[in-house]
Amino acid sequence: MRRNRSAKIVATLGPASSAPEMIRALFEAGVDVFRLNFSHGSHSDHQARIESIRAVEKELGRPIGVMADLQGPKLRLGTFAAGRVRLVAGNRFRLDLDPAPGDESRAPLPHPEIFAAIRPGTNLLVDDGKVRLEVERCGPDHAETKVVIGGFVSDRKGVNVPNAVLPISALTPKDRDDLAFALGIGVDWIALSFVQRPDDVAEGRKLVGGRAGILVKLEKPLAIERLDEIIELSDAVMVARGDLGVEMAPEDVPPTQKRVIQACRMAGKPVVVATQMLESMINSATPTRAEASDVATAIYDGADAVMLSAETAAGSYPVEAVDIMSRIIARVQADPLYFKTIEALHLEHQHTAPDAISAAARQVAETVGAAAIVNYTTSGATALRAARERPTVPILVLTSKIETARRLALLWGAHCVHARDVTNFSEMVQRAAAIAQREGFAEKGQRIVITAGVPFGTPGATNILRIAWIDG
Ligand code: PGA
Ligand code: MN
Repeated sequence: MRRNRSAKIVATLGPASSAPEMIRALFEAGVDVFRLNFSHGSHSDHQARIESIRAVEKELGRPIGVMADLQGPKLRLGTFAAGRVRLVAGNRFRLDLDPAPGDESRAPLPHPEIFAAIRPGTNLLVDDGKVRLEVERCGPDHAETKVVIGGFVSDRKGVNVPNAVLPISALTPKDRDDLAFALGIGVDWIALSFVQRPDDVAEGRKLVGGRAGILVKLEKPLAIERLDEIIELSDAVMVARGDLGVEMAPEDVPPTQKRVIQACRMAGKPVVVATQMLESMINSATPTRAEASDVATAIYDGADAVMLSAETAAGSYPVEAVDIMSRIIARVQADPLYFKTIEALHLEHQHTAPDAISAAARQVAETVGAAAIVNYTTSGATALRAARERPTVPILVLTSKIETARRLALLWGAHCVHARDVTNFSEMVQRAAAIAQREGFAEKGQRIVITAGVPFGTPGATNILRIAWIDG
């Protein structure tokens, strides 16, 4: 089953999309990686979902990526005696550690870390920024604020503190528990939420211990300030525009998206653009023109993947959303301007054998009009370098590790196949040719470009480039 596009689709599972037939329909419509959102649902919900995904994988013989998205330190208000209150601009409002239910003049905010990090002048954003408070005075257990933008606030609404680094780990006790569970059921990616600093990524990496890839969600402006260090420690990155758009002005989100995509493309790390991509499709069978354009823009920017959240988790048209997203991507990639735009970012090569081979493979494939580049890889590292070149021909990734095949479902241009290791040169050529034909990438009389490492089966030894005819 071959996709007609190089950029990938991540879709979130939820109440609207957890039936096994629905998961299968979503995969067939174009989902490459499924996201299990640990902010919602029980462990048994997530377990049932991954079992359905693995059943589809087995039945259709295609590796599928699964991402566990940890909730992270999402900060919330306590409760109100009346359930909700209306805050009026210009009034004073106190936040403190007292658990007693709140009213118009005060409310509990059960996070001492916030009080430790704020200063007079700090802004606190409630309920995705709908209500804005400015700190006037504060102490270790309270803050006196002025209401800058008024509105309703209610029980356990989220609080964002855009301009302060909070002295908290990116992993709460719930996250640690969810992480252990997610690794136990065999997810391929762990997404870390509300990462503030490079140390947060290092901490996540230590806990994951190589059992999954680490995807860092960029949803704090302060994390963007240390972008390169964070990318360096990550295996993939997400432009999490939902929370990012709360913490920074709306007009700052598009340039940030472009900057992050560019930095990830330079580093050769997969980058996902997420949130509100086809938001109106939660309730409508077709997207707005602006949404179609937003998806297209992320693809023209060179993103590896675009993501659906509530559209597939809780919407009325999950399959339609995936289908239209897939069509938009394919349409962009059919535009000659697409590869021109992609090439405009002139990437320098690292002085390594994998980069030299990857650059040559792209050039040779395009020069001889090869049908595909076939990349033999164990860890997936050379597939990342091959995709970084953004070749105009598909990349067939052959790996003996199913974990690598699943993880690279997120990677631009990679069609992954789980295949046994080869032991000699003629086997390398024969297997590549046979799989390229079987998977619908090449026909008799066409050429393929193969990259591999000799001695065979030694990770990190890519040093071979071979042009082969399909003759069988
Ligand atoms: P979320 O993350 O959907 O888990 O909030 C994505 C975002 O903030 O954009
Ligand atoms: Mn978020």
